[in-house]
Amino acid sequence: MSRVYNFSAGPAALPLEVLETVRNDIPDWLGTGMSVMEVSHRGPDFAELAARCEANLRELLKVPDDYSVLFTQGGATMQMAMAPLNLSSADDTADYVITGSWGKKAAAEAGKFCRVNVAGDAADRNYTYIPDEASWRRTDAAAYLHITPNETIAGVEFDFVPGGDAPIVADMSSNILSRPVDVGDYGVIYAGAQKNIGPAGITLVLVRNDLLDRVRPGNAHLMTWKSYAESDSMTNTPPTFAWYVADLVFDWLKRQGGVEGIAEINGRKSRRLYEAIDASGFYSNPVDVACRSRMNVPFVLADARLDKTFLEESAAAGLANLKGHRSVGGMRASIYNAVPEEAVDALIAFMAEFETKYG
Ligand SMILES: *Cc1c(COP(=O)(O)O)cnc(C)c1O
Repeated sequence: MSRVYNFSAGPAALPLEVLETVRNDIPDWLGTGMSVMEVSHRGPDFAELAARCEANLRELLKVPDDYSVLFTQGGATMQMAMAPLNLSSADDTADYVITGSWGKKAAAEAGKFCRVNVAGDAADRNYTYIPDEASWRRTDAAAYLHITPNETIAGVEFDFVPGGDAPIVADMSSNILSRPVDVGDYGVIYAGAQKNIGPAGITLVLVRNDLLDRVRPGNAHLMTWKSYAESDSMTNTPPTFAWYVADLVFDWLKRQGGVEGIAEINGRKSRRLYEAIDASGFYSNPVDVACRSRMNVPFVLADARLDKTFLEESAAAGLANLKGHRSVGGMRASIYNAVPEEAVDALIAFMAEFETKYG
């Protein structure tokens, strides 16, 4: 078997231990003589998995008792529609602070269902900073404030929680479970699974219970958070395999010292990589230092004509998926929870060698 170091932005690396458990479990899960994909989601084994998965997630994120933990399908993108449908009427205004491509998408989607006020927008500097909170133009009595705490493409991460009375809706797809957060600061947190939770196909939503009743009348059953809250997320057949892997990932995360433990490791990984970039005259990262992402590290080479060579030689060295997003160019190393410290060290060593050879 040969595994590479995988820097994919998503779907992203999973812990090898988890993959090995999956491989062992597939033909005969828990002595049932069936795989987890072949059993009823309403049977006792799967019910136990779902209950444990929620309990572990609650423990990892210290989710307060007055929040529901929901698992849906449709990815983070579906939540971009579910947020306005569950929290606003068509006449309400929701505030959006746009610090990257995902926030921009979320605002555009919400605009189909309610009034959207763009309270802040970092497009003027190609999403390399977070506009000062004092400059945001917020609406009085907004239905909610939407932010993207980590923008996956430009590599920009909030280092503060906004104030104000409106419930905060946060798209944490690319930094959930990477460090402690105070869930109570948010009204809603949502995250697609394929960065820090598990395989694509399942989506985590945390909702403060008093917000569940804001859903607009006549809303589709599967687009209603309350339906999931009232059915233990078994509104219809859930994505059982993805849920099973997420449960294994949460268990793995607990063995890493939980969110606190992984946050230390993530801090070391990102610090070392940014230090290597900043110390070189060959690589650079354009993001304001205060809001550089610990999960997605974009960097460009001094000469873009070397990009192709960099990608070919890094891939040959077992460093996969370093190509940057086309809107930013250059490279991007996504260093989510499951990317080990050795992977970052190998990348830094490769970058130094490449600079010596071509710089
Ligand atoms: C990946 C990503 C999304 C898109 O998620 P889907 O599950 O594909 O809908 C949305 N927001 C952020 C911040 C992301 O990183």
